[in-house]
Amino acid sequence: MDDTQVLNYPDSDTLRHIRQTVTQINGQLPSGCRLVAVSKYHPASYVQAAYDVGQRVFGESRVQELQFKHETLPKDIEWHFIGHLQTNKVKYIAPYVSMIHAVDSERLLTEISRQGILCKRKIPCLLQIHVAQEETKYGFHVPELMAFLSTGTWRTMEGVNICGIMCMASNTDNMEQVRNEFHIAYSTYQKVKELYFPEDTTFRECSWGMSHDYAMALTQGSTLVRIGSMIFGDRV
Ligand SMILES: *Cc1c(COP(=O)(O)O)cnc(C)c1O
Repeated sequence: MDDTQVLNYPDSDTLRHIRQTVTQINGQLPSGCRLVAVSKYHPASYVQAAYDVGQRVFGESRVQELQFKHETLPKDIEWHFIGHLQTNKVKYIAPYVSMIHAVDSERLLTEISRQGILCKRKIPCLLQIHVAQEETKYGFHVPELMAFLSTGTWRTMEGVNICGIMCMASNTDNMEQVRNEFHIAYSTYQKVKELYFPEDTTFRECSWGMSHDYAMALTQGSTLVRIGSMIFGDRV
């Protein structure tokens, strides 16, 4: 996002579409599931339109853009960072970010904890697992995640709160495959819950489902759907 986009007079049909779609999705979601409206690459005026119909949880994937929107938009917005986060940028969002979805290494979790301690908070984090076929996607492979958790080092990280699991399915029209991938994610969530967080009521989030596959994600335990283009249109 740059200033020209922000200053562009927003098209009223687009704003109407945003308000209608957010209202419609929120009306469809089961009670245990929340919408993360993914506003990355879209102007602040689009976020405001969704906010105006009650949406409070938004997802961004670039630190600079999140900084700008956080400063500009209403302060009761819960900002979720959903993209790949570089360790050297954690410090910029640590004071206010409501959840970091895509934690995919011990090194990143360690840095988030360090920054959380500096801000005197426990930053809610999700551990990202790799279930898709594409090799380009980030995330722990499931055995890697189990090995990491078994070391117990995360228990000493006072500045984070591990709240669940996140994944992205393959980008395919093969919905059977998407179902299988979400199913693997949900089984992993259940196993991790049982082994490491049985008494912890804050470990409860399953972040999966995007515009094209969120309906399938809802059949596989999703508690956070991250929907962008369906609400805000194609990203420029
Ligand atoms: C962009 C993005 C989304 C939203 O994707 P849409 O297809 O636009 O709904 C969800 N999750 C992550 C991690 C993303 O980067």
